[in-house]
Amino acid sequence: MVGPMPPDQFQLTGRGRLLRPEPYDGPLPWAIHVRDGRIAWIGARADAPDADAVTDLGEALVTPGLVNAHTHPAYLGDRSDEAAARLAGAPYTSGGILRTVAATRAGSDDELRSAIEGRLRAELEAGTTTVECKSGYGLSLDQELRALRLIGEAAAPVAAHVVRTFLGAHAVPSEAASMDAYSAVVAEEMLPAVAATGAAEFCDVFCDRGFFSLEATERILRVAADLGLGIRMHADQLTRGGGTELAVRLGATSADHLEQLDVAGVAILAGSRTVATLLPGPAIVMRGGLPPARALLDAGVTVALASDANAGTFGGWGAMPLVIGLGATILVMSVQEAVTAATVGGAAALGLAGRKGALAVGADADIVAWDAEHEGAFALRLGGVRPARVFASGYGLST
Ligand SMILES: [Zn+2]
Repeated sequence: MVGPMPPDQFQLTGRGRLLRPEPYDGPLPWAIHVRDGRIAWIGARADAPDADAVTDLGEALVTPGLVNAHTHPAYLGDRSDEAAARLAGAPYTSGGILRTVAATRAGSDDELRSAIEGRLRAELEAGTTTVECKSGYGLSLDQELRALRLIGEAAAPVAAHVVRTFLGAHAVPSEAASMDAYSAVVAEEMLPAVAATGAAEFCDVFCDRGFFSLEATERILRVAADLGLGIRMHADQLTRGGGTELAVRLGATSADHLEQLDVAGVAILAGSRTVATLLPGPAIVMRGGLPPARALLDAGVTVALASDANAGTFGGWGAMPLVIGLGATILVMSVQEAVTAATVGGAAALGLAGRKGALAVGADADIVAWDAEHEGAFALRLGGVRPARVFASGYGLST
């Protein structure tokens, strides 16, 4: 079902609904002509160039490969008991992340690599052809570099495009003297090593009460930007602490979560180029409120939908079809807006606009035919829509 495109040229055709992600409304059947892994032509089949091989996708709904712009795959261990306790009233603290850190540090390279590879395969088999992958369960120089290296090794045999993000500032490890002392290690020791080895394309910080302060976040992200890394943030998830304003001020590519965002925060984002990446999965599991998706869209903010699959607050790998459904239901987006957020929006959140998340001339030929005839199925069959075919072409590591 999942396979790379042939190297030279190839054509897909169909009579069903084609979302680019805006709906194709030309004559049927449509055709997408692929050359050297990129979309070379798209339009009515009658006008298409000749092709060596043509695959007919029939009446299936066809979309760009989905883009999951926020995941944390580099972990071992199981925290389902913690999720149950939290849903029974226990508070959320950084202790859960530290439990995963201990289990991850204790595992072998083979165990961690194989866990990551399984998660990437689950994403691809659910129609996600681009996956952002964060470190952040190592929290020491050696362990963070190991996680980034193993993400790269795990990605090699999987036909998905992987973008790596350094998240050394995910939680303060128990051996650190203080948040400030650990932030200095992240900025002065870890980041230069990450940049020197080309181990990541982005740097992220969990900026929130009980995690990293605004001052520590700014210190880390300024060093990251100076070293040539892209920057992104976990912002305004648990408390409205001003993370969104900081993300915009620093020119972050994306501000993620935003469950506590208010009207002023929406206006700040609307005046910026920072993408709002919304994560309805953990928002539901955490019962901490929902991000203001409707207000963000109405204000003209570029919105991405991602899964935030991780060890402790949302464990769904291959959940992007569900995430689209959640966007279109509890986040009050139209289904087409939700598909756009999970494709074009996700690509923008990773600095990959024009290359990923769109069926357009020049874009990578990442194309999914679904077991559905209309995108409404993502809402109607919440989590139940699966790919019939996945074509992935522009895959590999971003760095
Ligand atoms: Zn996250």
